[in-house]
Amino acid sequence: MKILAVGMNYSLHVEEMKDILSSDPIIFTKPETALLLNNKPFFYPDFSSEIHYETEIVVRINRIGKSISPRFAHRYYSEITAGIDFTARDIQRKCKEKGLPWDISKAFDNSAPVGRMLAKTDFADVNRIRFRLDLNGNTVQEGNTADMIFSIDRIIAHVSEFFTLKTGDLIFTGTPNGVGPVQIGDRLQAYIENEQVMDFYVR
Ligand code: MG
Repeated sequence: MKILAVGMNYSLHVEEMKDILSSDPIIFTKPETALLLNNKPFFYPDFSSEIHYETEIVVRINRIGKSISPRFAHRYYSEITAGIDFTARDIQRKCKEKGLPWDISKAFDNSAPVGRMLAKTDFADVNRIRFRLDLNGNTVQEGNTADMIFSIDRIIAHVSEFFTLKTGDLIFTGTPNGVGPVQIGDRLQAYIENEQVMDFYVR
């Protein structure tokens, strides 16, 4: 399986990163070794001193597809959850300054904790789903898929022009504003609406 991710999909996050809006979704990938499941702890890596959380809605692809039209994209996923797109911000900043690819800041081992999947049919409208992250019991990020610049269907259509989607692939759909650092000992709990989908520690 592979993990595809969208950067800069909520305008308030684009502002906080002092970045610019793009006319197409900005896509990057994480390998299978980035996946962290079942609330296992995240071990703070030695190579960074500025690991940031980015809380995102994640969709799981349920069939093979290529060049999917936005109209049919909803047929290609039936489960969603929340995930953390862990980012080594210090490394990303250095790479961006030099105009270099920033893969290592995003795709390192265990950089993609993914929560328990929920059925899409549990929600009246996937384009209006609230989600949040609590850090040590305090809410630090709140998002609503209604605020996405590119909708889930638009993202699926776009990425499938370049990458054949296969069953089990995961798509991280971008973070709202409020990203910030984690420390060893932190507890991260992610919720979709009022349902907890993730609860793990940084070790
Ligand atoms: Mg992200």
